[in-house]
Amino acid sequence: MPRPAPLPAREAGNLFYALWQSALDFFFPPHCLACGRIGSRYCPHCLAELPFPPIHCTPEDALCLYVAAAPFEGALRDAIHALKYEGVRQLAPILAGRMAEAFAQCDFQAQAIVALPLHSQRLAQRGYNQSALLAQALATHLKLPYLPQAAQRIRHTAPQVGLNRQERAANVAGAFQADPESVRGLRLILVDDVVTTGATLRACAEALRRAGATEICGLSVAVAILH
Ligand SMILES: [Zn+2]
Repeated sequence: MPRPAPLPAREAGNLFYALWQSALDFFFPPHCLACGRIGSRYCPHCLAELPFPPIHCTPEDALCLYVAAAPFEGALRDAIHALKYEGVRQLAPILAGRMAEAFAQCDFQAQAIVALPLHSQRLAQRGYNQSALLAQALATHLKLPYLPQAAQRIRHTAPQVGLNRQERAANVAGAFQADPESVRGLRLILVDDVVTTGATLRACAEALRRAGATEICGLSVAVAILH
């Protein structure tokens, strides 16, 4: 008997969804998206095989450092899609574990974690923010506080897909605002799921810096190449 289809993503934020998911996992144990092994949505063996992309240091930038946990390709791309659009929330702690490993390779003394925010309209449509799920799970891995109210997206922006580097930067300029009470004087990790040119992450980092954050390290699950 095939595993029933996941609920629509907009249902994925509530308790009923979590219970439904636990019941599904009990009767239809999850399998690894990469190798099919039973037990986890992405098994430790397959995660360990992914290469770590190089760390980017950008001392002149609002983001002084940028780290990705893996390239955006293959089964990892499917995993991020499942987390983002299919409500497969169990992937967040698995992928955050990999992010923690990537982060451990750089010398950045973080004090708190912030997620790249969604606009309230999109959050209402999707029911949850995948970057916030990752940031929360990462906070557990790194034993750091997660600051859910630190940044907001104040302007609805068109998707970045299909835009070039300059268009991407213009599209997200001024789209974010940060709360000085939450971030003043702090060294932060800013979490996103996939980064391409880094324009969105940078625009949010600029808002955090304006609000008084001292240093920001961008950390994503995956890095994509802009063609
Ligand atoms: Zn596997």
